[in-house]
Amino acid sequence: MAYNKEKASKINYLHLIQNDTIRKYLSRCDRKKFPLQEDIHKCNIPINNIKNKHKVPLEYIIAVDGGYQEVCIDENFPSSKLCYYNIGIVNTKIKELESLEKDKIINPNLINKIEENSQIFGFVIPMQNICLQEQDFTDTVRKTIFEIFANNALSLEKLFKNHKDKPLESRQSTEKDSFINTIKWLVFKEYENSDSFIEFACPQCKAMQRFTKQTQNYTDEKNDFIVCNKCGEAIYITDCFDLHTLVDEINGATLIQSYIMSVFEIVLMLSMFRFFFENNALYWLERILFIKDGPLALFSRLDDFVFKIVRPFLQFLYEKSLQDGKSYTNIVGLDKSGMFVEHFLHIESKISENSLILPNLDYMRKYITGNNASVFGENTYFGIKIFVKKDDNLSFLLDLAVPFSRNIQYKDYIKNPSIEDFLALKAILEVLCKLKCDLYAKSFIPIAMINKLVSLSNVPSKKILTLFSQDVLR
Ligand SMILES: [Zn+2]
Repeated sequence: MAYNKEKASKINYLHLIQNDTIRKYLSRCDRKKFPLQEDIHKCNIPINNIKNKHKVPLEYIIAVDGGYQEVCIDENFPSSKLCYYNIGIVNTKIKELESLEKDKIINPNLINKIEENSQIFGFVIPMQNICLQEQDFTDTVRKTIFEIFANNALSLEKLFKNHKDKPLESRQSTEKDSFINTIKWLVFKEYENSDSFIEFACPQCKAMQRFTKQTQNYTDEKNDFIVCNKCGEAIYITDCFDLHTLVDEINGATLIQSYIMSVFEIVLMLSMFRFFFENNALYWLERILFIKDGPLALFSRLDDFVFKIVRPFLQFLYEKSLQDGKSYTNIVGLDKSGMFVEHFLHIESKISENSLILPNLDYMRKYITGNNASVFGENTYFGIKIFVKKDDNLSFLLDLAVPFSRNIQYKDYIKNPSIEDFLALKAILEVLCKLKCDLYAKSFIPIAMINKLVSLSNVPSKKILTLFSQDVLR
């Protein structure tokens, strides 16, 4: 790195390109190359052949999205940073969106009315050189993450504010609705009344610990913590995310910025599932299509939470759907970047209109990921990818919630996924194809709406948040 104001010398590259070791090293490397798919038409599945397995009475779309912005409060040493988050959920009736699409003109009153059925969660996390009083930096981040989930709760009242038909109408929002209880509900597998648990290393002494229920009622605050059996320190339920292992005093918490947002989005969405479960109102799940911006996956240290907690829950719910002849897991992720999207753009013109492609593991290895030893998504995904092409103007990459029971493992399923396994694919595609709207820069309307409500721009958000932080934090 050049020192300030000192020009980098213009010939220093010579040391590198004349270096024989470098040259020899590069000659040992291969660039990944993928064959052209001349036979792509063999993979095309006509959309018209797809049938819903069960009756799918979709009426609502609930979309989740978030934004965050890091602000630097003091550029001088030591630089102090915070990260602000806005994460939102909006509920819209499919009929309302259809009328919006039909008009081809945005009616601001209607948009405002739709947007009122939403809830936005805002919070802040220290990123560098800012600590809670009498806490070190890592403990500050751990405690802050715990408090974010403990102090926020989903309100069905807000989500259904302008809708006549309200779920669980008589029910008042309580502390029990907090997101920390959703995490516990999932971890202890309360949905099947089993006393389940999760194992992870103590953040202090690194000894493996089993996080189990301390009292019978999972919502009890006593179940938010355990005490390490080796060092005696308290361990929060949110430590199961393992994000603190990416945090340290020197580098701060920048690495976990996006992971916090994605895990919050998932817990927010699954809170709704918990409410309907606990109130014997699963029929509401049949009526809702959940849309999440981004893939149905959690990355890095969140992988344990995916393959031990989130994916088994969806598999359980898939089994229940089969038993009841319903579709309870109408969840899609809209993937907009990464190698699958690149691949899709590359082959899009070769896919027939009104068809889709469901890539299996062989396909991924041959055309997208390369022949890696690992199975794509094995520890990170709770969805399955599908390329959809309606026509030349409308195509997208979709993740759909895993369509298989708990006796099947992801790594086996992905070798030979079948379009027949998706219970509500036809209905979901119909809705999505209607909602991809030119009015919103080719985005899906509900996602564009929630994105508008949560996004934090560089200007003016960042500037104002910086001034605000400087003022409050003295
Ligand atoms: Zn310990």
